[in-house]
Amino acid sequence: MSPLRRIGLIGGMSFESTIVYYRLLNEAIRTARGGLSSADLVMHSVDFAPIAQMQSEDRWEDAGRELASAARGLEAAGAQAMLICTNTMHLVADAVAGAISVPLIHVIDETAAALKQAGCRRPLLLATRYTMEQGFYQTHMARHDIEVMVPDAQARKEAHAIIFEELCQGQVLDASRQILLTIIEAAKARGADSVILGCTELGLILDPEALMLPGFDSAVIHVQAAARFALGT
Ligand code: GLU
Repeated sequence: MSPLRRIGLIGGMSFESTIVYYRLLNEAIRTARGGLSSADLVMHSVDFAPIAQMQSEDRWEDAGRELASAARGLEAAGAQAMLICTNTMHLVADAVAGAISVPLIHVIDETAAALKQAGCRRPLLLATRYTMEQGFYQTHMARHDIEVMVPDAQARKEAHAIIFEELCQGQVLDASRQILLTIIEAAKARGADSVILGCTELGLILDPEALMLPGFDSAVIHVQAAARFALGT
């Protein structure tokens, strides 16, 4: 068997979802190779507090520099491909990709491929306000002929608060799950054909298999792409 390729994870945003990346990537390798096989990976898990501050102050270039520096460190540690373990920070994906010579496995590209394969073209995007409102997500998806719908302003505010004030802080509340399900129901009535869990923490509260529309968990899809790269399949 050929040696596994080493994966670089830029994590910690939040660590609640990075734990999921770590577990799923290792499980995927064990499933593929059996026995004691596990992922060969290096991780830079950042302190999320200053990064979240930069997000809220619109200091995306500063945040991009931080993540680019983490990516360079991971490449120096032997990473052969890089993952940014958050959708929001793909706003600075170009800065990160430009700082390294190994490929960046892009969460929006991978999610788009999964949607297309399932024949979905008009997904509801559930994510942070940054991801839903800054336009980068929609622009990127449009390149794949996918027209992303976002919830109304009030619902965007609620989803953002659930992500930052609860899920990123380790709290999973039934009342919040209900709010998210109501947002999905409203989107279905507006013509959505699927739902993107476009925030890597959303899989902690919603089961993509148990929604009223086909669900796509960005964290799971991203990890699957990393596992394929690691295995060379
Ligand atoms: N992990 C989240 C995401 O996928 C939110 C945290 C962040 O703002 O980076 O967007």
